[in-house]
Amino acid sequence: MAIGEFNLIRKYFHNIGRAPGVVTGVGDDAAVVDNRQGYQLVAAQDTLVAGVHFPQIADAEKIASRALRVNLSDFAAMGADPKWFTLGLTLPAIDQAWLCAFSTGLAETAEAFQCELVGGDTTRGSLNISIAMFGEALSGRALLRSGARPGDQVYVTGDLGQAAAALAFLSEDKSDLSDWQQQCVERYYFPQPRLAEGKWLQGFASAAIDISDGLMADAGHIASGSGVGVRLFWDQLPIASSLRDNLSPDALQSAVLSGGDDYELCFTIPEAESHAAEREARERGFQLARIGEVVAAPGGGGDNVCCLDNEGKPIQQPVTGYDHFADLPV
Ligand code: ADP
Ligand code: MG
Repeated sequence: MAIGEFNLIRKYFHNIGRAPGVVTGVGDDAAVVDNRQGYQLVAAQDTLVAGVHFPQIADAEKIASRALRVNLSDFAAMGADPKWFTLGLTLPAIDQAWLCAFSTGLAETAEAFQCELVGGDTTRGSLNISIAMFGEALSGRALLRSGARPGDQVYVTGDLGQAAAALAFLSEDKSDLSDWQQQCVERYYFPQPRLAEGKWLQGFASAAIDISDGLMADAGHIASGSGVGVRLFWDQLPIASSLRDNLSPDALQSAVLSGGDDYELCFTIPEAESHAAEREARERGFQLARIGEVVAAPGGGGDNVCCLDNEGKPIQQPVTGYDHFADLPV
């Protein structure tokens, strides 16, 4: 017997996660949540398209985890608290094994990050997962891309390049992958939203972004948002040794500088506060690397972000991250 849209929603999408403030969740015409005085509402949306953002055959539990985590990462980059989310789900057919795995992955991730599914929409078509996350930030305190000033120091959390390296073997059978390759695939499906770091950064970062399109492209967004330039130093970039050992120099540069999907935070701190920030980060167990500096915007239409090699020469890398419409005429 067919399960039908409404039973499907009840069976798989009720009681996913838990968050304070929910007055009415899944089941009415719209969700109602309480907002608190002294806080601003923060919203972010990310869509994953099968065949573009993940292989058609990818494990549903992992897709759900990734879909939620990339949204959570946007909240980390704002220093905001994620709370309530809606799910726009387009399915080619009803495959209950797939739905069961998907809702399990979604529930586990929502529990882990204390947010709750409060509504959505379910339609038929090519597989597409769109999550809109809502939450809050202390009024006037959300981290933006626009506050970096010349002299500020540039930092990144975690390490770079593994998720991008995974794209080369995402479609392969797990049992055919070596340990370092499996590690990269884990990083791709389970990016770590740096929520604690983001909230802490509200104290002193002048600008922040999460790295979804690639370090150069995203540092470039801070540069253009702030009207400055960014100079990065290749020697200072945090890179897992397994990646250094297994990629050619060109592939490594491309994964670290232009590869997306790391979802680490890139941010700037005024120089006068940088030592105190580094000390505090160590005390809190946050992994940060100082990777560059903010400079005055280059004149004459030059690139506003560059990465220098150990001889001080700019590394040639395309700065633009992934553009879904790059192949279409204007
Ligand atoms: P309406 O026709 O009023 O838009 P729907 O039939 O689309 O209502 O949805 C019924 C209820 O189920 C709503 O509360 C909606 O938010 C929720 N819902 C629909 N699809 C999903 C989903 N994929 N995940 C969570 N909630 C969903
Ligand atoms: Mg609807």
